[in-house]
Amino acid sequence: MTMIVNKLHLVRDRIHQACQDAGRDPASVQLLAVSKTFGPEAVREAAAAGQTAFGENYLQEGVDKMAALDAPPHPLLPRPAWHCIGPVQSNKTKLVATHFDWLHTLDRLKIAQRLNEQRGDDQAPLQVCLQVNIDGGANKSGLAPQEVLPLARAVLGLPRLRLRGLMTIPEPQPDFESQKQVHLQARALFDFVRQTLLEEGLPGSADFDTLSMGMTGDLEAAIHAGSTMVRVGSAIFGGRSYPAAT
Ligand SMILES: *Cc1c(COP(=O)(O)O)cnc(C)c1O
Repeated sequence: MTMIVNKLHLVRDRIHQACQDAGRDPASVQLLAVSKTFGPEAVREAAAAGQTAFGENYLQEGVDKMAALDAPPHPLLPRPAWHCIGPVQSNKTKLVATHFDWLHTLDRLKIAQRLNEQRGDDQAPLQVCLQVNIDGGANKSGLAPQEVLPLARAVLGLPRLRLRGLMTIPEPQPDFESQKQVHLQARALFDFVRQTLLEEGLPGSADFDTLSMGMTGDLEAAIHAGSTMVRVGSAIFGGRSYPAAT
């Protein structure tokens, strides 16, 4: 087995164990393999081992990688789903609208509107999560909690976007309990927004089912708090030689 395949199995074991400890069905947590800074070969290896969803932070890098992987990793394997998990400036929305399946970092109406205009009629709707700055961390991206519901309602009105949930990148915490406390705040907000949208009966509100939180260092705490999608990079692909943009 290659290193990547081996590590992918270890990460799946971690997810499985955390689900068991938390009394959750392992099928309720998806693994997003964050392949930023790694080449198409690394993606191909992970895909051949059954990984179907990949996350990229840097738009052009992601698009170049998709082009290099144009053919599926194996004729019987599906094309991977590509998730944009990095910040998107308004002059770069076209790359997201054209090439990605998901966007996790939506935090402005203007960006949502541009994506809705630029998404092709022949494409499936772009799946979006709203990014929340849950702990008021120095990483300033993301909505304040009270801004989430108004943007969620607006996004539900955009036909080429499909609102899927919330995403957070909390500041690093030193231990499981403090990680979990922050994740639980995100979970509470997620439940509140979902419940409110359902009560308002807006079309599409039932698709709000995704809580994207947890990375290599805190995926167990995130799963205990109710994450449905963990975004894991270094535990699968190894250390990165250039740092994550935030
Ligand atoms: C890089 C990155 C990850 C993965 O981080 P690891 O600690 O390597 O697992 C997850 N989410 C976002 C938004 C990232 O930028």
